[in-house]
Amino acid sequence: MCGIVGVFDTSTAAQMTALGLHALQHRGQEAAGVAASDGATLRYRKGSGLVKDVLVPSVLEPLKGTLAVGHCRYPTVGGTAENNAQPLYATCRGEPIAIVHNGDLVGASLLRDDLEMRGAIFSTTSDTEVILHLIAKSSAPTLIERVADALLAVRGAYSLLILSRDTIIAARDPHGFRPLVLGEVDGATVFASESCAIDFLGGKVVREIEPGEVVSVSPTGMVSRKPFPAAETHACVFEHIYFARPDSTMFGESVYQARFQWGKELADVAPVPADIVISVPDSGNPAALGYAAGSGIPFGHGLIRSHYGGRTFLASEQAKRDLGVRLKLSPVKAVVTGKRVVVVDDSVVRGTTSKKILRLLRNAGASEVHLRVGAPPVVSPCRYGVATRTYDELLAHRMTLEESRVWMDADSLAYLPLGSVARPGFCSACFSGNYPLI
Ligand code: AMP
Repeated sequence: MCGIVGVFDTSTAAQMTALGLHALQHRGQEAAGVAASDGATLRYRKGSGLVKDVLVPSVLEPLKGTLAVGHCRYPTVGGTAENNAQPLYATCRGEPIAIVHNGDLVGASLLRDDLEMRGAIFSTTSDTEVILHLIAKSSAPTLIERVADALLAVRGAYSLLILSRDTIIAARDPHGFRPLVLGEVDGATVFASESCAIDFLGGKVVREIEPGEVVSVSPTGMVSRKPFPAAETHACVFEHIYFARPDSTMFGESVYQARFQWGKELADVAPVPADIVISVPDSGNPAALGYAAGSGIPFGHGLIRSHYGGRTFLASEQAKRDLGVRLKLSPVKAVVTGKRVVVVDDSVVRGTTSKKILRLLRNAGASEVHLRVGAPPVVSPCRYGVATRTYDELLAHRMTLEESRVWMDADSLAYLPLGSVARPGFCSACFSGNYPLI
């Protein structure tokens, strides 16, 4: 996934970028970084860890200048090596540039092989570096044209920001897999993965960057181009289901309302007699409230989340995931003991989380545990930016619904039907196996 922010034309560009990244921390917790330009020199700092730990005031202080871009990283392509943290920085024909990227390119390894055969030297394993090399190879006269040349040569999912001495270029792939919004904060232009970052900075959202749009902002003003042939939009439906923050509006829709509505639909299609509806906090909250509203069963806080650890799924090894659930969630006995409990989560991917939670609830004395999932079963890995790589890791690929129910020891298990989320203009390949780009 990853979160990206760009700020143009304010004396505290690096600090504002870091604050924006803080609001996007849920999109990636592995590494964070900021690059800033003072018009002559680009400086950058990045490191492993949370935004608040990496981008501390003493680290940001030397990042002088009025324009900056930043990134918080969720490991997708390229593994977890620290040198894959972004921004990536390069100097090309005397011009320094820094790039931040959210998404996965399709066929990046072929492009990389080709570039390497022709002498390119890579210093990371990240697919983002392929874009840097393609920009460097273009002979177009201006940076925006070189960026457009590079992007015409790649396929896949990207929302990205490129910083040069005096310009920020923002681009969204022609299919619009990943989000990117444009806003304004105290007269400064701000780009961010989600609207919640712009709200957090006290600004106003102007609009979404359109699929296939390349926008540049420089001292001469803002220019928008559409260098790509017309293409169908495939916005990622998993953003609405899990990734985005509920206070964001994305792809023209409130994330909270989308999740709430799906929870209501779930109550219609998968009712069950029960005493209490609880959520898996935090991402299951809106769908659980929707399920409670739709079913008429009261909602209770049956699980308390400790906010002092990372999201379990974001840790790289299975062992950390197993430990993570217990570190993170505790049942509230006063709410669940002796009760028939409906527990609502936003999604089930590997099933590890659900299995542990159901056991926690039974151990706390729940008389029945019914799992309702505010998404269809994840049957296929994502090729466009979500870190599900193999079929085998996906519960719904390995097991039937009934086998899954037995494996996780649920009294009943139901998912949202595919038809509820599969809409025109959205990619739902993880639920259907129909990949819009191969
Ligand atoms: P799992 O144990 O793999 O089934 O994890 C599913 C849980 O992780 C759900 O509670 C989701 O809220 C969350 N989740 C779903 N998809 C992702 C993802 N791609 N990255 C991180 N967390 C996720």
